Amino acid sequence: MAANWPLATMMVSDDSLVIRTVVRVHLEDAGYRVVEAVDGSDALDKCRESLPDVILLDIEMPGMDGYDVLAQLKADPLMEDLPVVFLSTLNGMDDVLRGLRGGAHDYLKKPFEPAELVARVAAAAHVKHLQDQLRQRNAELEMLSRTDALTGLRNRRDVEETLGHLCGDAIRHGDSICLLMLDIDYFKRVNDSYGHPAGDAVLAEVARRLASQLRDADVAARWGGEEFLVVLPRTDLAGALIVGERIRRVIEVTPMRAVGASISVTVSGGCSLGPLDSGAALIDVADRLLYSAKASGRNRITGPS
Ligand code: GH3
Ligand code: MG
Ligand code: MG
Ligand code: MG
Repeated sequence: MAANWPLATMMVSDDSLVIRTVVRVHLEDAGYRVVEAVDGSDALDKCRESLPDVILLDIEMPGMDGYDVLAQLKADPLMEDLPVVFLSTLNGMDDVLRGLRGGAHDYLKKPFEPAELVARVAAAAHVKHLQDQLRQRNAELEMLSRTDALTGLRNRRDVEETLGHLCGDAIRHGDSICLLMLDIDYFKRVNDSYGHPAGDAVLAEVARRLASQLRDADVAARWGGEEFLVVLPRTDLAGALIVGERIRRVIEVTPMRAVGASISVTVSGGCSLGPLDSGAALIDVADRLLYSAKASGRNRITGPS
């Protein structure tokens, strides 16, 4: 039999106090938490409130019947995956099929055998538990696939996509948006002088300092080796240049500690102002301005003239 997931919450929706009480006793004996609902609309309210792991649902109830409750659950993205086990005196094959076709996980007929009820509910809770795990794992994988492992910033794939969305928003709302492209100056020398692990540590520290200067709505990413992008939504050029200058300074001001050494680095940056036709156009302009910053001496942020 499926394991009894600790703290799983079962909702019992039935207009009969007797049934609710009997079911509650058996489920509580089996170690579950139980929430009761006295009719269809109460069931929907309580589901929204407590997001139970399994819903035991009577069919014949005053007002909204069990089929309607199931249909409403299935139409709500927050609740569509909650497993529903019908518990009904309607015992024709048509009723069972209608319930299962509507998306119910299982169908039990009254009068029920307590051990069978508990076993079926446990099976539904098990499926729910596996689904939750899978969903969480997928969310973690999705997050990982968008994160740069060394710095913890977003990676290139993520920022390209996010920049596209933010440019679209800026165009729709008539907002400005700025993009900073930053590149560590003479970074090859860091690797050459202190070794690759020290270079890695410096990259991580640069990322940390860069991120420390941003607001929640800003997006920081590692664009490539020692290049970073910062997207600044709803920010004008003057504001973006201030942010760029703050980042430049916080990196320059204190040497980085890495593998026992004290390593001074600076960054150069190009700052573009949008919205332009596309995210790629913003990147292109920032890249060219970065090149100007490098050519005119490094350790500076250059905006469009
Ligand atoms: P510039 O001021 O013109 O940008 O000079 P630079 O030396 O920073 O530029 P260059 O493009 O010549 O060198 C970039 C260096 O960054 C070379 C590469 O080995 C290093 N690098 C890229 N990715 C990583 C990484 O993940 N870890 C470490 N340690 N080094 C990296
Ligand atoms: Mg009833
Ligand atoms: Mg570079
Ligand atoms: Mg560089």
